[in-house]
Amino acid sequence: MPVKTEKKPVAKAAAHSASKPAPSSNGHKKIEVGILGATGMVGQHFVALLAEHPWFRVTYLAASERSAGKRYGDLPWRLNYELPAETAKLSVNELKAGDGPMVVFSGLDSSVAGTAEAEFAAAGHIVVSNARNHRMDPLVPLLIPEINPEHLALVPLQKKAKGWKGAIVTDPNCSTIVMSIALAALREFQPKKVLVTTLQALSGAGYPGVASLDATANVIPFIDNEEDKMETEPRKILGKFVNGAVEMHPMSISATTTRVPVVHGHSESISVEFEKRVTRDDIIGAFGRFTGEPQKLELPTAPKQPIVYMTQANRPQPRLDAERDGGMAVYVGRLRECPILGHKFVAMGHNVIRGAAGAAILNAELMRAKNLLG
Ligand code: NAP
Repeated sequence: MPVKTEKKPVAKAAAHSASKPAPSSNGHKKIEVGILGATGMVGQHFVALLAEHPWFRVTYLAASERSAGKRYGDLPWRLNYELPAETAKLSVNELKAGDGPMVVFSGLDSSVAGTAEAEFAAAGHIVVSNARNHRMDPLVPLLIPEINPEHLALVPLQKKAKGWKGAIVTDPNCSTIVMSIALAALREFQPKKVLVTTLQALSGAGYPGVASLDATANVIPFIDNEEDKMETEPRKILGKFVNGAVEMHPMSISATTTRVPVVHGHSESISVEFEKRVTRDDIIGAFGRFTGEPQKLELPTAPKQPIVYMTQANRPQPRLDAERDGGMAVYVGRLRECPILGHKFVAMGHNVIRGAAGAAILNAELMRAKNLLG
């Protein structure tokens, strides 16, 4: 993780790396990785989170022609984490499939990610993407390692069907990740109907994002394409992998998404109706027990506990809780009875770490653990 500045403690993403000897990829050599969209909000978080990664080393950066040709350290750095000196020295490249290392993380704008990521996969790269373009492709894993690691079995099928030497693996939309992790813990009770309203941070819109005159002391009750993603992606993520394909989970979801003047951390008010009868204690117990392969394998970016249930009546709060546990845990609280659907609660997670860069790094760690990175 990056070096601390005086202003702000650095979120420590590598929950296990301090206590475990750093595993190596290839003898003692780290795997070289590239970052597409390295200059954006997600791209800069990739740079910060990978600064001291035990398995990966950033050796290649790419962005638009506006940034290409410049030294990364000469471009504006917008995070409270110190820019790693080794990355600052690198030049930014124009997007060119075939350039750079085999493994590339993508924080590309969706206007360009669709074509660019497919070209990189065709040229033999493993593209670990944050962009929405390929998420709902039936051959592309929409991966949350704690929930659906078995969906990685799509990778060889994808390569074969598309004739690609490489592949694309995506992480879900940032709000979707927070809700899906909470719902996955409750999967045994069979969620049937879900009603969700989000209060999403400004950093979710990238940089420069929402105009200050729109965002300050205001709530914007619309985020382009967001409700559709919230209503469809969790059904793929929680879907069963049967006969080489993902069967969509049958639950129905109704979403309202809003933008609020918060820097990082998406909050979500979630009501759920379950097929099974459950008590409040059943639900709190399931949140606390929830764990997955990243925890079992002690992947470097895995939070020790993916869901933390907070008992205080006024938590979780983005300003207080989003950066705890390296920004990789989902905080849940305010579980109470819903007179319409049965149960309701609030969930909150760091949109750029658990919802984007950290999520993609965890995906790559799981792929490396399963020998899918070449
Ligand atoms: P951003 O701050 O606007 O960054 C966009 C990046 O894409 C920049 O590096 C930009 O390079 C690059 N880019 C734009 N047009 C390009 C082009 N024609 N050719 C090559 N590169 C180009 O956006 P962001 O918030 O980081 O989001 C990046 C992606 O992650 C998006 O697809 C977004 O939907 C997704 N995502 C974001 C979040 C979040 O919380 N922010 C969460 C989940 C997913 P220049 O700087 O050179 O223009």
